[in-house]
Amino acid sequence: MEQNIIDELRNIQITPRGNLINGKISTSLSGETIDVVSPIDGNHMTMIPRSRREDVDLAVNVAKLAFDDGRWSNQPPVDRKKVLIKWAELVEKEALSLAVLGVRENGTEINMALKAEPFSAAATLRYYGEAIDKVYGEIAPTAEGILGLIKKEPIGVVGAIVPWNFPLMIGAWKIGPALAAGNSVILKPAESASLSLLRLAELGLEAGLPPGVLQVVTGYGSEAGQAIALSKDVDVLTFTGAGPTGRKLMEFSAQSNLKRVYLELGGKSPNIVFSDAPDLELAAKSAVNAIFRNSGQVCVAGSRLLVEHSIYQNFLDKVCNYTAKLKVGDPLDLSNDIGAVHSEAQLLKNLRFLDSLKNREKNIVLGGDRLIEESGGFYMSPTIVENVNSKDEIFHEEIFGPVLSVIPFSKDEEAISIANDTSYGLAAGVWTSNLSRAHKMANGIKSGMITVNTYAGTDMTVPLPGMKESGNGSDKSLHSLEKYTNLKTVWVNL
Ligand code: NAD
Repeated sequence: MEQNIIDELRNIQITPRGNLINGKISTSLSGETIDVVSPIDGNHMTMIPRSRREDVDLAVNVAKLAFDDGRWSNQPPVDRKKVLIKWAELVEKEALSLAVLGVRENGTEINMALKAEPFSAAATLRYYGEAIDKVYGEIAPTAEGILGLIKKEPIGVVGAIVPWNFPLMIGAWKIGPALAAGNSVILKPAESASLSLLRLAELGLEAGLPPGVLQVVTGYGSEAGQAIALSKDVDVLTFTGAGPTGRKLMEFSAQSNLKRVYLELGGKSPNIVFSDAPDLELAAKSAVNAIFRNSGQVCVAGSRLLVEHSIYQNFLDKVCNYTAKLKVGDPLDLSNDIGAVHSEAQLLKNLRFLDSLKNREKNIVLGGDRLIEESGGFYMSPTIVENVNSKDEIFHEEIFGPVLSVIPFSKDEEAISIANDTSYGLAAGVWTSNLSRAHKMANGIKSGMITVNTYAGTDMTVPLPGMKESGNGSDKSLHSLEKYTNLKTVWVNL
């Protein structure tokens, strides 16, 4: 990756964007727009449509028509596969430009964004493309004289509502399996991270996705998002975002057509380090990356570091040393390790969490400040906090910022009890050389994903399920196809 190419891409003027409905780019019906501001410098970048219910209704009608006439839903899986694979190739060809576009809008450091956004999205499209002509139905073990078939069918119109932290990656986790299975989709990106997804959808058309199968409608959650959730013609709602929004979506489903609602929500994930970890240096470096990459705006961020008492101070010193070396700044400058916080509102929210500490001086071991305010952008120092417990807001609430709470523990059971002492259950890390201990921890911790001697960093072959208030569905892996297919029984009396 070369800095001069990134610099050229970052200076490209972005003309106002439109929704993508029925294969055409269009303004919102009212002509209203939303300003897009870059977190890098606070400057106005461009505008996107402020879509409302009438825009959503139009897009949903188009998606429904496309589903019903079979232009995609009736295509042989092997043909859908070709389109998805071609699409993945086009995304890869444009990877750097897509990554820079996304970073200008959401502030993720470019090194991370390139891997986690276009390349990850391309891998997802390819994975579900490759998979879909290998998915079989079943024949039930019935009595002689009966043929019981269990067929898997696409459901209809899928509404996908996604957040701003990794729009391409998370967007692809939804539209990849939904489209592979033959559904039509209406996608609403976050109002502050729509540009790269709009481009991704255009590349889908180029790859051969028939117009009308995938719509992208931009706008606010309380307007466009809510209209999707309340639509009676949306059959499945797949969502990644904050818990309070997820709760509303379930209500909207109940108020409309009882559409299935899949929620991928937040976390407050524990990363647990035992004194017998195989490599404490690696554990310390990983603990730092686990929380501070993308300024902590990662659903599986290891925001609570639990350290065995006997190594507590020594390990905390290592973590502080690695953290102090991180360079925060312009996310498009390759020499920086950490980019911008996504918005000023999020930055102020992060700082408010620190203000809620009883004894700031005693609690904050490192960081705690807004940085380079003169840039006009939104930057925050990686922050480490100790002497907190489960009663403190900072311990149990998801901050979604670069704030790490460090907590000592003495016994395995105590570590499990602290780990489970939140309403979330998304991810966890365990560092130990003791295989039996690792499995006991994995059994005891109520999280959808537990990694041992590494933190998060899995691949497409495994799901990312949420437990407790972290959600009820899971993206990734073949299991995700189940969210977007109906089982149909055909019982034949021979
Ligand atoms: P958010 O809930 O505010 O927004 C997410 C999306 O929902 C956006 O597109 C937004 O416009 C829309 N929305 C907001 N209000 C809505 C409403 N009333 N009706 C319909 N749609 C609405 O979340 P966010 O701040 O963008 O994202 C951060 C959250 O996402 C964090 O909690 C994070 O942990 C979570 N997250 C989870 C995962 C996962 O896989 N579990 C992955 C990434 C992020």
